[in-house]
Amino acid sequence: MVKTWDVIVIGGGIIGLSISLALRKLGTTVLLLERGEPGREATHAAAGMLVECGTETPAALQPLASASARMYPEFAHELQDESGVLIDLRDQGAILFSAGYLPAYSREAQDARPLGELEPALDDAEIPAVFLQERSVDPRALAWAALRAAKHRGVDIASGTEATELVLSNGRAAGVSTEKSTYAAAAVVNCAGAWAGNIPPHRFPTRPVKGQMLSVIGADRDLLRHVIRAPEVYLVPRSDGRILIGATVEEAGYDKRTDVATIQRLHQAAIRMVPALAQARILEAWAGLRPGTPDALPILGATATPGYFVATGHFRDGILLAPITAQLMSQAITGVQPDYDISVFSPARFST
Ligand SMILES: Cc1cc2nc3c(=O)[nH]c(=O)nc-3n(C[C@H](O)[C@H](O)[C@H](O)COP(=O)(O)OP(=O)(O)OC[C@H]3O[C@@H](n4cnc5c(N)ncnc54)[C@H](O)[C@@H]3O)c2cc1C
Repeated sequence: MVKTWDVIVIGGGIIGLSISLALRKLGTTVLLLERGEPGREATHAAAGMLVECGTETPAALQPLASASARMYPEFAHELQDESGVLIDLRDQGAILFSAGYLPAYSREAQDARPLGELEPALDDAEIPAVFLQERSVDPRALAWAALRAAKHRGVDIASGTEATELVLSNGRAAGVSTEKSTYAAAAVVNCAGAWAGNIPPHRFPTRPVKGQMLSVIGADRDLLRHVIRAPEVYLVPRSDGRILIGATVEEAGYDKRTDVATIQRLHQAAIRMVPALAQARILEAWAGLRPGTPDALPILGATATPGYFVATGHFRDGILLAPITAQLMSQAITGVQPDYDISVFSPARFST
């Protein structure tokens, strides 16, 4: 007898993993197809800031960003409990520097203490700053925890398996073809990140947006407590003493190479903010491909083909948006009215 699943999830990044977990919770059988290894693309490259009210967050995305930020502690604890993996969810907050407009954050999100007291390692900056009650997480640990939890919950995972085409039967999604075989399911959800537009017959207008970054480690493991966000660079401390420095936003196709001059420029910008970083050792430099869309909004929901769904285009916020995306997509796929209106994110907005 040929095995079939209720849902096939294409792509094992944080979005595909989170949706698989949410679907299993609802009793659905799930096969996750991953071209390479789960969690090794954009998810692996991310800094892990959970920016709830970013200066660049589109207004239409704000309700989902806020809801997802609120969901994070429970999402994280559940994954940690099920996987035994610590994901370094930090809630020390962030300091946002902005030469121009500083958005009106809620009163309780502000901290009246002088900057030098909040974060002594910061150089005296001339530009205004606000303190924000934001969290951060280690996306590599998060993906590892989600993968282990998914296996624990009985999600079938096929790594090294590239989806080449959606299989249709009587105009409905009926499964996925790969080079070697065909997998059957009643529904399919495309979570292939920056590659989501490359799986025929549907062509979602996603594109890769490259981000280069580096990590450093110094003698003082507690050099920084807060995430620091500034116009030129951001710094994200991890509890093990690493500090991540990012990130570029480049239109470079599917090129994931780093270049020395760019990494040095980021490093120098970080040293200008935190002079003690001049003594820190560079651990790693890398680049990843964010899933971008023409209007900078994700693409979420049902496609014109019955049984075929999409969840991609999370651009700079996919780590933040994973919990709410998983909730809303698992609802949409199982025929439950999603808790938020996701029609503004529908793939139909790109059909001519
Ligand atoms: C430098 C950088 C910094 C970032 N910082 C942050 C941050 O601080 N906070 C935040 O919230 N977000 C951040 N992001 C964005 C975040 O990383 C992404 O939005 C998120 O990881 C997208 O997750 P995803 O699962 O959609 O994509 P991915 O993680 O790219 O996963 C897609 C998966 O699909 C697989 N795949 C592709 N094609 C196929 C196929 N045909 N068949 C099978 N599998 C396939 C890929 O191999 C991949 O594993 C950052 C991104 C970058 C690059």
